[in-house]
Amino acid sequence: MMKNNFSNEQIAGFSELISKGKEIVIISHTNPDGDAIGSVTAMKRYLKFIGKSCSIIIPNHHPDYLSFLDPKKEILVFCDDKEKCEKIIDECDLIMALDFNQLKRVDDMEGSLRGSAARKVLIDHHPSPELEPFDLVLSTTETSSNCELLYWIFLAAGVTRIPVDVAEPLYVGMMTDTNNFANSVLASTFRMASDLISAGIDKEKLQHLVFGGFSESRMRLMGYLVSDKMTILPGFGAGYIMLSKEDQERFDFSEGDSEGFVNIPLSIKGVNISALFTESNGVVRVSLRSANDFSVNRMAREFFNGGGHERASGGKLYIPFERVPEYFRKSLEKSFEGYDKSRRLKDISD
Ligand code: 5GP
Ligand code: MN
Repeated sequence: MMKNNFSNEQIAGFSELISKGKEIVIISHTNPDGDAIGSVTAMKRYLKFIGKSCSIIIPNHHPDYLSFLDPKKEILVFCDDKEKCEKIIDECDLIMALDFNQLKRVDDMEGSLRGSAARKVLIDHHPSPELEPFDLVLSTTETSSNCELLYWIFLAAGVTRIPVDVAEPLYVGMMTDTNNFANSVLASTFRMASDLISAGIDKEKLQHLVFGGFSESRMRLMGYLVSDKMTILPGFGAGYIMLSKEDQERFDFSEGDSEGFVNIPLSIKGVNISALFTESNGVVRVSLRSANDFSVNRMAREFFNGGGHERASGGKLYIPFERVPEYFRKSLEKSFEGYDKSRRLKDISD
């Protein structure tokens, strides 16, 4: 991703929408992760830097480990105070949607957003963005993260020196969406990381805050899941982990504790597809990852009511938790129909 991925008109459109905006609302997706909270925080601080104020609204809570990005607790959570959030959305004149491609990704907030007369801009890095509700769409998949995309947009919009308080959340988003610089890393990603370090971020501090602050019970849960709840399907080059409600209670689980769990099976030789199934209230949350060109985005869309990126996707299942393993096996079987079988065998024997 480089700044010239977008036309001068698109970048001018971005700057103009912001300069005309009087009441600006920044939003991101349900179950916001590091890239989502990094994006909304960086955008808020960028707006402040250029003399604008705004509100941030997210559909539900972010994991606790990201709280350091919102020290004054200014982020509004839609499910906590619907009326207040609906009023703010109703009265705003610019909505900036970050790090998601479909309005349904904000669940209960979707109705108020569709009903709003405000101008709307989408900045995102998922494939096939929904275009219709937006006045401006800045979208590309050629980037490590939405935060990287924002960085190049800020530069294209004329920022010559990125302030450190904007650089910090950008770095967090980039670090989390790449699984600590392991996946989706481009030359531009390291260029940006280098710029942010020059801008003065404390990368050791951020590393510790994001990857070094887990609870003891989370670590024990991880060990238990690997030992007792992980299944490998060698015939598919796949592995999955089942995280039941019972185990969540036993290990004092809180939102964000399972961050990274889905990647665990991928570190096993021969495993290129992995899944994490989390039993939630009346629904099974699904996380999918691929380490080759097997498209988990397609799999998520076809079998798991979801979507995402080619190698990192998610969705939901509405079946009893105990039936998930069989369903996953069948979905793999169907996904492999028509898939290059020689590649599958090669992957397994690698
Ligand atoms: P995660 O496994 O980290 O929850 O999600 C990985 C990616 O999958 C996210 O970045 C997002 O793009 C996508 N994703 C997760 N859940 C859903 C969902 O319910 N619907 C859609 N369309 N995409 C999802
Ligand atoms: Mn992202």
